[in-house]
Amino acid sequence: PALHRQRHQFIIDFVKMKKPKKVLDLGCSECVLLKKLKFHREIELLVGVDIDGVQLKRKMHGLAPISTDYLQPSYDQLCIELYQGSVTQKDARLRGFDLVTSIELIEHLTLADVELFSEVVFGYLTPGAVIVSTPNSDFNPCLPGLVGFRHRDHKFEWSRAEFKSWAMKVCWQYGYVVELTGVGQAPPGQQEHVGFCSQVGVFHRLGGQEGYNMIDEDAEDVFSYTLLYSINY
Ligand code: SAM
Repeated sequence: PALHRQRHQFIIDFVKMKKPKKVLDLGCSECVLLKKLKFHREIELLVGVDIDGVQLKRKMHGLAPISTDYLQPSYDQLCIELYQGSVTQKDARLRGFDLVTSIELIEHLTLADVELFSEVVFGYLTPGAVIVSTPNSDFNPCLPGLVGFRHRDHKFEWSRAEFKSWAMKVCWQYGYVVELTGVGQAPPGQQEHVGFCSQVGVFHRLGGQEGYNMIDEDAEDVFSYTLLYSINY
């Protein structure tokens, strides 16, 4: 299967296993992952954020219920919301989720903005789990004809060592543990040398959701995102 499908499947497998109730997808783009996640009954609140409001508006109506959705009794729980906003900025409505996903997003940020992202996501939103995927530059020699980065909007592409060092720092600063893995296999015999095509970090908050209550109170009032879409099933 295509790599983007494998990345989404990774999230779906995680959701099936851990059954999060509140899921937030950062850099949700055209809502492809959200459309897949809305079929998972355990989820009660499904939220997408992207800086590009035009892109969100183009595809967001595909999140609306289709008539047969109402034949599924457990759907009365689901609420879907989309916000236009930047992951470098805080918004109190997005705190305390069970799972935050960030699929192929951070490499579109400057390194200074990656620092803000870390602070916002791990330090302020404080979800129970975070899944971050980004290209693995160690794998790039396996991509035929690639010169430079995989996409012209990428500000960087990290090696496994660079990703690990960012992930370890985040864990240490904000109280998480991480498991490093990936999706997209290398050609036979090369996996050990180059790793996965996309590298993935699965972070869990130490002490689970309880840590959420420890955050300072005045942070509660920040609303920097614009609600573009909201629907209750
Ligand atoms: N997550 C999508 C997926 O799994 O198919 C693909 C993500 S796409 C490669 C990167 C997305 O990040 C774009 O939709 C872009 O608009 C968004 N983005 C870039 N900078 C952002 C920021 N500072 N805050 C929020 N979204 C941002």
